[in-house]
Amino acid sequence: MEIKSISIIVAMQQEANPIISALGLVYSGKISEQLPMLNYEGITNGVNVNLVTNGICPTYGIDLVASQPSILSTYVCVEKRKPSLIINAGTAGGFKKYGANIGDVYLGSPHVCFHDRRINLPGFSEYGMGFYTTYPCEVMAKKMALKTGVVSTGNSLDFSDDDKRVMDTYKGSVKDMEAAAVGWVANLLQIPFIAVKAITDIVDGSTPTKDEFLNNLELASENLAAQLAKIVCFLSTNDLH
Ligand code: SAH
Repeated sequence: MEIKSISIIVAMQQEANPIISALGLVYSGKISEQLPMLNYEGITNGVNVNLVTNGICPTYGIDLVASQPSILSTYVCVEKRKPSLIINAGTAGGFKKYGANIGDVYLGSPHVCFHDRRINLPGFSEYGMGFYTTYPCEVMAKKMALKTGVVSTGNSLDFSDDDKRVMDTYKGSVKDMEAAAVGWVANLLQIPFIAVKAITDIVDGSTPTKDEFLNNLELASENLAAQLAKIVCFLSTNDLH
């Protein structure tokens, strides 16, 4: 697959800022007049790159994290840019039982799932979890010494017993609030998709997630940006396989 253009979907502005700098992107306005999502563009290694942030909630004044804004960002971005590849980049929780450390960068593989759409009816259970495939990226992960795992998405920052039960069924090792939402749109529209996630907090550790997340957001976002610059470079010269 030749990669001519890449769209990067990011929930929080603080996560996006180091990526925008690392890739030399420039703000080009809202992705659509009626929506809060912001667009940044540039050319990196001959590849057209744009990055969309979900923007600020007009009602509550905070970043539009979680699944609904991410679906909207991704769909509008695809309509406008027709990318050859979609990347969802952001921060996430990791698990010490799977060997995660703060600041690690993971590639979602072989799929991304939802852990909080529990629909215990025939056939609906699998639909709820989703299992949206990511473009094969194990070779890239190995070459770049990145970890891989199933990224699992829910609309809550906390971790309930039910979330754990579902995540354990598919060995979800990275917990976020956007990847499966972006992955669903990408799979539906048949656009190759990868998730790149930097670890801000250890979900099965002893520090409260909120404190750990805020303490490590800057470090994780810097690591995310450094790895994304390498990933875009890698993608511009290699196939993913
Ligand atoms: N209080 C924070 C809230 C951000 S929500 C603030 O406004 O500064 C957390 C964001 O980080 C989401 O976009 C999510 O994808 C990611 N994230 C990081 N750690 C997470 C975890 N343990 N569980 C779920 N999402 C997490």
